[in-house]
Amino acid sequence: MNARIVVAGAGLAGHEFVRRMLASPGFEGTVTWHTAEPGRPYNRVLLTDLLAGRHTPEAISLPALADPRLTYRRTPLGSIATAAFDFLVLATGADPVIPPVRGNAVPLRTLNDARTILRALADGARRVAVVGGGPLGVETACALARRGVRVDLVHRGPHLLSRWLDAESAALLTDSLSTAGITVRCGTEVSAATGTWPTADLVVLACGTRPRVSLARAAGLPFERGILVDADGRSPGDPRVFAIGDCAENGAVGAFAALDDARRAAVKVSELAQYSHPSPTGGHTTLGNIVPVCQPPKEVPTGSFTRSALRLRTYDVPGADVAVLGRPLADPTIQLTDQRRRTRKALTLEGDAPIAAALVGDVRAAPALARAIADPATPPPSVPLALLTSPSLRDAAGFDRV
Ligand SMILES: Cc1cc2nc3c(=O)[nH]c(=O)nc-3n(C[C@H](O)[C@H](O)[C@H](O)COP(=O)(O)OP(=O)(O)OC[C@H]3O[C@@H](n4cnc5c(N)ncnc54)[C@H](O)[C@@H]3O)c2cc1C
Repeated sequence: MNARIVVAGAGLAGHEFVRRMLASPGFEGTVTWHTAEPGRPYNRVLLTDLLAGRHTPEAISLPALADPRLTYRRTPLGSIATAAFDFLVLATGADPVIPPVRGNAVPLRTLNDARTILRALADGARRVAVVGGGPLGVETACALARRGVRVDLVHRGPHLLSRWLDAESAALLTDSLSTAGITVRCGTEVSAATGTWPTADLVVLACGTRPRVSLARAAGLPFERGILVDADGRSPGDPRVFAIGDCAENGAVGAFAALDDARRAAVKVSELAQYSHPSPTGGHTTLGNIVPVCQPPKEVPTGSFTRSALRLRTYDVPGADVAVLGRPLADPTIQLTDQRRRTRKALTLEGDAPIAAALVGDVRAAPALARAIADPATPPPSVPLALLTSPSLRDAAGFDRV
C-alpha cells in the first residue's frame, strides 16, 4: 500500500515520527509534513541553554530531513476533515498556560519566545521576574542569572518544585538561588486581573502547558486534557488518526515520552501499511546533555520510575543542582542534610530495594541511583546508605545523557 501519511507538528515527536517513517525499510508512501513555526525544527528542550548563552539557535536545530517522499507544508494543518490521508499523525504539542498579563510578559515555549527574551535583555532589561517555580521556572531563572540579570522567581505553590521536593529540600535550593541573585517568592498567584503583578522590566511565564486538542475536538475525536489514544497512540474515534507527544493523553509527558510515542506510532503505521518496521537500531534524535522529564506523570506505574526522573539544568549556579529519581515526594527512609553545604540527600527503600531518591546541592550519586532504581534486578548494597555516599557510585556517569 502506498500510504499517504500526513503529520501535523515539527517538534520532537513529529520530527522523530517522520525520521523513523522515512527510515522504514520498504516505505514507498508519501509524508506530508505541516509545520506551524518558522525555520527549521529545533530541540525545544534546549531553549534555556539559549537563554544562558550556551547555544546559538543554529546549534539546537534538529537534523534536516530531505527525501523525495517528503513534502513540507509550511502552514499549520487547519482541519482533519479536509486533509487527504490514509494515516494522520497529530504531534501538535502544547500551549503555554498564560495568566491574565500586563504588556511586558512572554512565555518560554518557542524559539521566537526565547528570541523575544534575548532581545529584551539586549535592549537593557536588567530585572526579570520569572513566574512559575516548577522545573522550567527554576531553569529559566538560573539561565538568566548566569547572564548577570537580577531575577525574581515567583511561585504560587508553598515552595519551589513543590511537585518534586519536600519543603526542607526546597528551602536549601532557595538559599542557593539567593546567593546567585535570584529572589524567591512563594505562595503568590500572579495575575494582572487581581493586580498581583511583579515589578520588573520583563516577566517570563513558566506556568505550565495545556495539550493542543483543537484539531481533534473539531473532528469529534475523543479528548480529555489531551487527545485520547491507545497504547499505540491511535485515537479510539478514528483508527487512521494517531496523536503523539505533548498533545496526547497517555499518562507520560516530556521529551522522552514524545520520542517514545513517535517510535511506537511509526511501528504501528508501518505495520498497518504493511511496510517493514522502522529499524530498531535507528537510534533516537539526540537531545543533547539533557534531562529526562519536566513534569511528573499523573500516575507513575510500577516499573516506569525512570520516566519520572528530574534533573535540572542550573547553569553553574552553585548548590542549585537537583535530581529526583523514582516517585516524587516519596517518604524517605534515609536522609542526609548538610545545612552548611546546603546539600540534602533522601533515599526511599522498599524492603532493601531503592525506589526513589531526591538530591539537592550534590547530585553526584544520581547516575548510580538512577540505574539502581530503574533496574530492580541489581542487588542493592548491603548498607543502603552507600547508594548516597559511595565514591565509586558518585563517579558513575551517564545519567544526564540521552
Ligand atoms: C524551555 C523548555 C525546556 C524543556 N526541558 C525539558 C526537559 O529538560 N526534559 C523534558 O522531558 N521535557 C522538557 N521540556 C518539554 C519538552 O520540550 C516537550 O515535552 C516536548 O518538546 C514535546 O514535544 P512535542 O513534539 O509533543 O510538542 P512540541 O515540541 O510542542 O511541538 C509541537 C509543534 O507542533 C506545532 N503545531 C501546533 N499546531 C499545529 C498544526 N495545526 N499544524 C502543524 N503544526 C502544529 C507547534 O507549533 C510546535 O512546533 C521543555 C520544554 C521547554 C519549553
